[in-house]
Amino acid sequence: MEATIDKPSTRSGHPTGLYVLFFTEMWERFSYYGMRAILLLFLIDNVRGGMGLTTSEGAAIYGIYTASVYLLSLPGGWIADNLLGQRKSIWYGGLIIMLGHIILAFPSDKAIFYLGLAVVAMGTGLLKPNISTIVGELYPEGGARRDAGFSIFYMGINLGSLLGITIVGYLGQKVGWHYGFGAAAVGMGLGMITFRTLGQRYLSQHGNEPRKAETSEATTSGGSKALIGFMGAVVAILVALQLTGVLDLTTAQGLAQAMGAIISLTALGYFAYILLAGGLDTVETKRVSVLFIFFLAAAVYWAGNEQQGSSLQIFADRHTDLTFFGWQIPSSWFQNLNSGFILLFSPVLAGLWIFLANRNINYSVPAKMATSLLLLGMAYVVMIFASEQAITGVRTSPLYLGFTYLLFTLGELFLSPVGLSSFTKLAPKRYASQLMGIWFVGSSLGNLVAGLFAGGFDEENVAQMPSLFQSVAIFSLGAGVLLLLFVKPLRKWMGGIQ
Ligand code: GLN
Repeated sequence: MEATIDKPSTRSGHPTGLYVLFFTEMWERFSYYGMRAILLLFLIDNVRGGMGLTTSEGAAIYGIYTASVYLLSLPGGWIADNLLGQRKSIWYGGLIIMLGHIILAFPSDKAIFYLGLAVVAMGTGLLKPNISTIVGELYPEGGARRDAGFSIFYMGINLGSLLGITIVGYLGQKVGWHYGFGAAAVGMGLGMITFRTLGQRYLSQHGNEPRKAETSEATTSGGSKALIGFMGAVVAILVALQLTGVLDLTTAQGLAQAMGAIISLTALGYFAYILLAGGLDTVETKRVSVLFIFFLAAAVYWAGNEQQGSSLQIFADRHTDLTFFGWQIPSSWFQNLNSGFILLFSPVLAGLWIFLANRNINYSVPAKMATSLLLLGMAYVVMIFASEQAITGVRTSPLYLGFTYLLFTLGELFLSPVGLSSFTKLAPKRYASQLMGIWFVGSSLGNLVAGLFAGGFDEENVAQMPSLFQSVAIFSLGAGVLLLLFVKPLRKWMGGIQ
């Protein structure tokens, strides 16, 4: 049964439940981004009680961790759709995340630390897609109001990230690593308290029941068989790649490449399964096909965006003039520009969408996503110029990186909140959370590519920087133009959903 329409219960016209989800997700992202900000530094530190890994090992582990977090959104969404419903998934997911951060907060050995990371990744997989799905459910009428709801929710995400990077980063780097990890646990705890106390009151029945009842038994048992077959095929492919020498699974780099293969196969396998055997009618088949294209656009976009933590971080650290009125800015602070710009421009773009909708001007989702890829490409064109200067040995003006961040962050606002909203609109209800999980699998792939790409940025090879950035620019601009060509058919296949 469709949920009843929530009465707008706040002055801005959004349901109060949105703010419960806003603050829960804010604290979850506080813990995620806060911990992530110090993770690589901790892994490679051998002076202040860190793990003392080499940079390439640390970077590969960092890449595998961030990719796993988003990859696990797919099973996390499946669990909500089929077993627990979104509310319980968020609750247990949050508790598991907190447990993971508590494990990290106590100094221990490598194995226990990796266990803590795995626990955080599993909890995040269970929480992340499902909280976004409930945001969609708060607006049963869909439309521009749901998009605006997602823009507000997205600000919560970025407020959490800004606070997390600042506070957890400070505690981890200046006081002690494990204080940072502990602060992440406290943040997640605050999110759980918010969700538990206010969720009961303001989220009504949303997400209380799994949608499984709407799927036939035959589809479910077909699903289990397909999953077993799929896992067998993935193992066989990995073994073949190892035996033919294409991959070397004994190195961190090789493991990361294998992870890329697993993520790509998972996404392709999932779409093939749902399209061919998911019991979709014609309209649903077209909409899920549109989601596949959105997934591809997301993967390309995040591969560029997530270089904040990889190649752009290296560029900030080694090639950017960091003195500001005689003071040395920490290079990692550039990453705060992303959340800062999001907070600044979210209201502007949310207002613009409403303004256009009120005037019946249709700036469709595929067109917005194409814009996003073009903005990303332009951001990397700026980096070509910056790196051409840098290879002459000067430290470049921070304005280059600042402008790059501005362009791709604007691009993020044309893709990320818009994508979340569209996935809730276009996904068949019984697959809502798992398809939301697939959206994050796009991030997973992007994170991994961004990590592997940074491998080309070693200090001996500085001269190749402009051509590396050029390849990102060309790829993003090309993907943007290609998507523009498909705007019309995609809009048709969306079947009236904006
Ligand atoms: N910054 C956003 C978030 O944390 C998007 C992340 C992503 O999808 N890669 O939700």
